[in-house]
Amino acid sequence: MPSTLTLAPVVPSAAAEQVRAEVREFLAAELAAGTFTTHVDTWLSGVDPAFSRKLGERGWLGMTWPRRYGGHERTAMERYAVTEELLAAGAPVAAHWIADRQSGPNLLRYGTEAQRAEILPRIAAGECYFVIGMSEPDSGSDLASIRTRATRNGDGDWVVNGAKVWTSNAHTSHYAITLVRTSPADPAHRHAGLSQLLVDLSLPGITVNPIRILDGGHHFNEVVFDDVVVPGDMLLGEEGNGWHQVTAELAFERSGPERFLSTYPLIAEFARRVADSGDPAQLATLGRVSARLLALRQLSLRIAGALDRGELPDIPAALVKDVGTTFEADVIDEVRRAVDVPASLDSPDPLGRALAEAQLHAPGYTLRGGTNEILRGIVARGLGLR
Ligand SMILES: Cc1cc2nc3c(=O)[nH]c(=O)nc-3n(C[C@H](O)[C@H](O)[C@H](O)COP(=O)(O)OP(=O)(O)OC[C@H]3O[C@@H](n4cnc5c(N)ncnc54)[C@H](O)[C@@H]3O)c2cc1C
Repeated sequence: MPSTLTLAPVVPSAAAEQVRAEVREFLAAELAAGTFTTHVDTWLSGVDPAFSRKLGERGWLGMTWPRRYGGHERTAMERYAVTEELLAAGAPVAAHWIADRQSGPNLLRYGTEAQRAEILPRIAAGECYFVIGMSEPDSGSDLASIRTRATRNGDGDWVVNGAKVWTSNAHTSHYAITLVRTSPADPAHRHAGLSQLLVDLSLPGITVNPIRILDGGHHFNEVVFDDVVVPGDMLLGEEGNGWHQVTAELAFERSGPERFLSTYPLIAEFARRVADSGDPAQLATLGRVSARLLALRQLSLRIAGALDRGELPDIPAALVKDVGTTFEADVIDEVRRAVDVPASLDSPDPLGRALAEAQLHAPGYTLRGGTNEILRGIVARGLGLR
């Protein structure tokens, strides 16, 4: 196998298994108390700040960060165990997900001391939420073509104008790490002149317009910036280094278990049905789905191991996201073919409900975080094929 895709096998540590058991116990108690109910795809649409604060109190946010910033100095493998259990339970984790997964690490890497000291402890406490401000109405895959611009005013502050779109949970979050053009586009150097700003979403001049998804739910938004004055010290990292920073951020975004576990609650419900029926054809479907799931999990775990060793496994991360999100959607077809259950959000049957939720969210699985076509291009480049 090409060395780019070779990752050392990992054995979960005793500490990871210990924290996994603690999270399972916590989730069972919360489910029994009725503080949440299981849903599909909750890492993007299950916003519950009270639940996020509970995770913060238990030390399950900012887990790998230094203690001086509110973190807990635990391993990527321990964090993996926590996120995996939360996803498998379909728990409402969307409020803090982006901040914990990628904005915090981005701040740790590029933030000023003042930015880190002010914001990271609040993320780790489950109190401060972030959104990704990358895509625009005319710029998705071709991110370098963004047109939202920021110019310095006489006070050294940034004046931002433009619009972002598909901004998940902008209506419930506090900051957007916003990719902006800080010098005019140069066709010869398309990736130059971009910067990241830490934008407080309560600033005057920002309008957040909801965009409904197929099930009527609201997690998407359009965010419009109209002469928004962002303090000069809210530049993240270096002016003009935005492209490099965004690329590093996307590696965190693409590698986690949420890229193949969004539809896990549907698999779990299906498994319960098969255990009751003992139907051989349904068992064969469950076997096929489980085998793919376990293979994906091995690859994703190895990426967590590589992160622990300080590596940047961006090529395998792109592969996990491509194969993982394809799997998430395939699960729906597998279950649909195996059982005769009408999919409906109002169904009294939990399998019918999970099927409906998974179907209505499915168009997004392979698009969010970069489309699978783009990811295949990244893998091909990593393998020296283009
Ligand atoms: C559920 C969900 C949540 C999202 N959340 C956020 C968010 O919080 N913040 C944010 O900034 N963005 C977010 N996005 C936006 C997402 O990143 C973009 O949708 C994605 O990058 C694709 O961009 P686009 O929609 O403009 O499609 P386009 O770039 O217009 O692509 C259209 C089609 O053309 C294909 N294509 C384009 N270029 C190429 C190429 N070079 N080679 C081969 N095929 C190509 C694509 O694969 C796709 O199939 C979210 C999207 C979804 C679905």
